[in-house]
Amino acid sequence: MEKIDYLVDTHAHLDMPPLNGEIDRVLDRAKINQVGQVISVGIDLDSSKEAVRIAAEYEPVFAAIGIHPHEAKNVQQEDFERLQGMASLQEVVAWGEIGLDFFKEYSPPDMQRRVFEEQLDLATRVGLPVIIHDRDAHDAVVEILGNYAGQGLKGVFHCFSGGMDLARKVLDLGLYISITGVVTFPKSRQLQDAVRYVPIDRLLVETDSPFLSPVPFRGKPNEPARVAIVAKTVAHLKDLSIQEVAHWTTANARALFGLPRI
Ligand SMILES: [Zn+2]
Ligand SMILES: [Zn+2]
Repeated sequence: MEKIDYLVDTHAHLDMPPLNGEIDRVLDRAKINQVGQVISVGIDLDSSKEAVRIAAEYEPVFAAIGIHPHEAKNVQQEDFERLQGMASLQEVVAWGEIGLDFFKEYSPPDMQRRVFEEQLDLATRVGLPVIIHDRDAHDAVVEILGNYAGQGLKGVFHCFSGGMDLARKVLDLGLYISITGVVTFPKSRQLQDAVRYVPIDRLLVETDSPFLSPVPFRGKPNEPARVAIVAKTVAHLKDLSIQEVAHWTTANARALFGLPRI
């Protein structure tokens, strides 16, 4: 077994405050906590451009580009063309985050669907893995993704919020499952059961920072360093060592996103 002893934060928003004002220090603290690489994820055209800019400037950072379901109502047709143009940049490792959010419903559901499907078409065409956002929309997301399963769809359910049932469907679609600090919250029993259930070779870890700080930092701004707390919790739940969790989740991230070796 090749030795991999660093973690990858597969989902952070480094373009958002307070992270964007101190990226050097954020990455220093990440490194101290054995977090070697970070994917900065876009939510609209501007934040996608920002993610690419940050990735170009900082070696440990990679970019994902896409339009979040919250932003679906603001999207222009030319945004898709711009994103498609950025997809081949060497900093770009994924298309996302994209999906459906029926919890907040900041954009009408039919519009969210259209924007989601349009981006699934583009991502599969350019061959990028997708980063899926699903909040209170499990059935619809699984149904839509089912239409792409035969088309070489690769990707991850980020901030996985389901239980074992949804986990089984996601695994059947051939996708990875990514865990945030929510797993440390005492009420996350279903999610903790899902973590026990999902094979370690299909799990990723992430912070979704600046959101979702794990216990004991709950409610405070989150940052990539704290993916170490997520990994530790996953190790505990699966009765693995932290080294095994680092090895597997990092190997999985490299396989999915094509990240270089450090
Ligand atoms: Zn999300
Ligand atoms: Zn996010």
